[in-house]
Amino acid sequence: MKNFEIPGHLEVKNGHLHIGGMDTVELAREYGTPLYITSEDRLRDNFGRFKKAFPDAHIYFAAKSNNNIVVQRILAREGAGADAFSDGEIYLARLAGIPPEKILFTGNSKTDAELEYAVNSGVMVSVDSHDELISLSGIASRLGKEVKIAFRVNPDVSADAHPKLATGLKTSKFGIPSQEIVSTYKKAKELPGVNPVGIHCHIGSQILEISPFAEAMSKMMDLVEAISGFIDLEFVDIGGGLGIPYQKDVRAPTPQDWADAVLPIFRERCAKLGINPELHIEPGRYITADTTILLAHVNTVKKAYKNFVGTDVGFNLLIRPAMYDSYHEVVVANKADGTAADTYTVVGPICETGDILAKDRKLPEIKKDDIIALLDAGAYGFCMSSQYVGRPRCAEVLVHEGKADLIRKRETYDDLLQNQIIPGRLL
Ligand SMILES: *Cc1c(COP(=O)(O)O)cnc(C)c1O
Repeated sequence: MKNFEIPGHLEVKNGHLHIGGMDTVELAREYGTPLYITSEDRLRDNFGRFKKAFPDAHIYFAAKSNNNIVVQRILAREGAGADAFSDGEIYLARLAGIPPEKILFTGNSKTDAELEYAVNSGVMVSVDSHDELISLSGIASRLGKEVKIAFRVNPDVSADAHPKLATGLKTSKFGIPSQEIVSTYKKAKELPGVNPVGIHCHIGSQILEISPFAEAMSKMMDLVEAISGFIDLEFVDIGGGLGIPYQKDVRAPTPQDWADAVLPIFRERCAKLGINPELHIEPGRYITADTTILLAHVNTVKKAYKNFVGTDVGFNLLIRPAMYDSYHEVVVANKADGTAADTYTVVGPICETGDILAKDRKLPEIKKDDIIALLDAGAYGFCMSSQYVGRPRCAEVLVHEGKADLIRKRETYDDLLQNQIIPGRLL
């Protein structure tokens, strides 16, 4: 290790990696591996960074980035709203204590049943298509309700993100093309059951440059200008997408950089138009990613074509490296101040060649039964997990001021059978 600075909520004491004041090697012993460990302080700090940078904005946590109810509850108490991409996420956000008027339902292909659930829950809806507008208007009218809506705009901004993470290109499946926005708002004004009060975009994820955010803000304000003559705009939602430095030598923008790039445009254009809408932002990854590490146990170290370290964590628990070629720093938790001795490729226990967590890393000498920590695993980590290859999902622990709480139990063999039904003739 020692090839990067350990972030502040992590520390090395007695050669062991610590998080939230707790020794990770002890936590592995007590709770077993694999194990997700989240620092409550870091979570609150990260949320606080957005509050400070965007003092007047409303922060809607992108719920899909971490679906743990405890994480969402902590954020709810910090004042977060939620960007919910499904009815299930609306359900969880409500359970976490987020009031419905602070939830925006943002899916791109919603069922009528989901829309009805949203209407009955009293949340706002970001409408992604004309078909959805017609369905929602019909459903809300039938229920005798009126829903506040925004339209998801496709701003045609190219963000420097992984192709699977860019959502604002004109070729992407998300949103309504800019040139159709005016006619769409006019149409919505005439329809019963829907009240168009917002405008929404989200240009992508893990964005490490600031200019696409500024470009999107300008394009959004062009559209705001085009509709402000006939729409009483209550909010402008510019989505999330701020990247984090997974590789610690990469410079990544901060919430303050984001705010510095977009707030002047927002304020100036609003002042010019004489309007005063709220600004909404929807960070996910930046709030949760670095709060959490994933501990793995080393089952084997094999010298073959490369030095392969076989662990108990595969893409069943952290799919990002396999899905997005993403990078997670690796720390040997029980040799955290050791110097690099060799080059290792860390792999999982899934029968797929792509089940690689980290390629060609310089690490201290690794032996069987060492504990490995994968950093920055709190966003799009556990929530994308599966039971592939008959592996029950692992536990999650929250650490706070030198104490640990189990916040998700490790699954058992029984969970592998959950909801499966054996027909009588096969019993
Ligand atoms: C996923 C998503 C976000 C959050 O993106 P991050 O990169 O995690 O910040 C925000 N808004 C919408 C609509 C999303 O789909």
